Amino acid sequence: MIDTNNTPGTAHKLLKSIFGYSSFRDNQENVIEAITSGRDVFTSMPTGGGKSLCYQIPGLMFEGLTVVISPLIALMKDQVDEALSKGIPAAFLNSTLQKEEISQIYSKLNRKEIKLLYLSPERLAIEGYLEQLEQFNINFFAVDEAHCLSEWGHDFRPDYLILSSIRSHFPDVPMAAFTATATTKVQSDIIRILGLKDPLVVRASFNRQELNYQVKPKTEVLSQISGFIKNHPEESGIVYRLSRKDVSKTAAYLIGQGLKALPYHAGLSKEERSQNQEAFNKDEVDIIVATTAFGMGINKNNIRYVIHGDLPKSMEGYYQETGRAGRDGLDSQCVLFFSTGDISKQQYFIDQIDDPTEQVKAKDNLNRLIRYSTVNVCRRKQILEYFDEDHRGECGNCDICNDTTNKIEATIDGQKVLSAIIRTNEGFGINHIIDIVWGADTEKIRSRNHQELKTFGVGRDKSKKWWRNIITELIAQQAIYQDTERFNVLCLTSLGKDILFGKRDFYISDTAVSPEKEGLSRNDLLDRSDFQDDDLYKRLRDKRTEIAQENQVPPYIVFSDKTLKDMAQIKPQNEEEFLLVSGVGEKKLEVYGPLFLPIIRDYLEE
Ligand code: ADP
Ligand code: ZN
Repeated sequence: MIDTNNTPGTAHKLLKSIFGYSSFRDNQENVIEAITSGRDVFTSMPTGGGKSLCYQIPGLMFEGLTVVISPLIALMKDQVDEALSKGIPAAFLNSTLQKEEISQIYSKLNRKEIKLLYLSPERLAIEGYLEQLEQFNINFFAVDEAHCLSEWGHDFRPDYLILSSIRSHFPDVPMAAFTATATTKVQSDIIRILGLKDPLVVRASFNRQELNYQVKPKTEVLSQISGFIKNHPEESGIVYRLSRKDVSKTAAYLIGQGLKALPYHAGLSKEERSQNQEAFNKDEVDIIVATTAFGMGINKNNIRYVIHGDLPKSMEGYYQETGRAGRDGLDSQCVLFFSTGDISKQQYFIDQIDDPTEQVKAKDNLNRLIRYSTVNVCRRKQILEYFDEDHRGECGNCDICNDTTNKIEATIDGQKVLSAIIRTNEGFGINHIIDIVWGADTEKIRSRNHQELKTFGVGRDKSKKWWRNIITELIAQQAIYQDTERFNVLCLTSLGKDILFGKRDFYISDTAVSPEKEGLSRNDLLDRSDFQDDDLYKRLRDKRTEIAQENQVPPYIVFSDKTLKDMAQIKPQNEEEFLLVSGVGEKKLEVYGPLFLPIIRDYLEE
């Protein structure tokens, strides 16, 4: 399949003659060698890592045609123009072309004048298209942005699944998948869906050493942002905000402060957006204030900082957005302004999601970012962990490692939790351990006599949220871990033992919640049990009917359906908790508490 004129070293020659570079970057050569020897390949490399060359060079080395599949129709023309400018015979086919243009390309294909053909997935979806492709001498398929195949990626595109049929039409043609986003979950989806056979798997490091990561408590966000920017005069930067409204507000504020900024969001006209992007690209303005709509196709390499004025929606997104800084390899700053208020805002949006799997995913993503922003663990380590990449921490280039965050010593509180875990023989999960330390009156506590433990109630003076936070920190700092083989019970690591026995101190980040006792909240109860139990609901309804009949009143006078549903969800076990049910006041507590509470307790005991 390889052009017989190719001798060893051809890849190097092409690197020099076509691309003008004298040496390959890490991994590029392996990938090219595997592809040209006919092997399937999976490659994940961060954006800017140099993926295109990994399929363009083999494309030039093969005698026949290379097909590059890419979902980015808007960028296809640029990609092809760039290839043409280097003298690579390339063309693209997608829905933006006119009939005549398409037939011209086919004539060229027939005359074998094209080596690299870029195709959009929607072409492949056309009935009979793959069969039609069989007439050309295709030597190699490259799938770009392959994470679009996976529901675990941030950019899942159902239409990309059509790529799964390439393998059956071209069983022996090597195929290589490229992505900038692969967690191992995404990786295995891609390999499975494309049907890659024993692929060479190449995972470049996602570590961007030139980026400095910081999280700052968000107070007066507009003046915080402008304060940061004023300390970086004449430098290019992006400010991300979650909503269009905040983008406009922030841009106006910065302009009012005498800074050169422009907004960018999907609500602006196409012309305005591309004008603003151009102005930023050409350094006519320093700052672009944008929603996450801004990003695709930014090639500007001298972006010195990326500020997030709001909590991002996922680690994936945060990595991609911050990754736009420092493309030239020079030191750059990534600052995230964090407030707990942002959490409830996002929680609200997540609650509106209809699809339960999507909802769970969104919650996971949110929790990751909360943890990232709040725990006292090297930010880089946490980011890389998301990509399943080990990092020892102590990176020396984040606010945690540089010790510029405010930390609180919490050794004693850490010890309280650790001791509760040890005294219950590492046999319980987060919620129960919190209940012990906090001194909750639950059935599970009573049935195991845990109210007799020495640690029972030692943390009554602080909120449940605080204890949850301490546990989150202990997990993040690897002082304890959740044993997934045993119902996620908490166990101590050697570091945990060191803290417990006073050999090491335990510090937490002050971005976390305040330790004041806030009293019991509905959320505490929801943490304990967040599903509505239909069986319990039915029993509560039966009780209501009984009471209504006895008193000859309509049932809703006793409690509305909504109240009963809420009760079946948060499952109050004592009077204090009963008051937290929506629709229950002091009076109803007094009259009905004694009638409904035993039902819930009986139910939980079963
Ligand atoms: P990706 O597709 O992974 O985001 P690109 O293929 O666009 O990255 O490459 C990013 C930049 O790095 C491009 O300007 C490219 O020309 C350059 N590049 C790629 N490989 C090398 C190399 N071996 N030496 C120098 N520059 C390279
Ligand atoms: Zn660090």
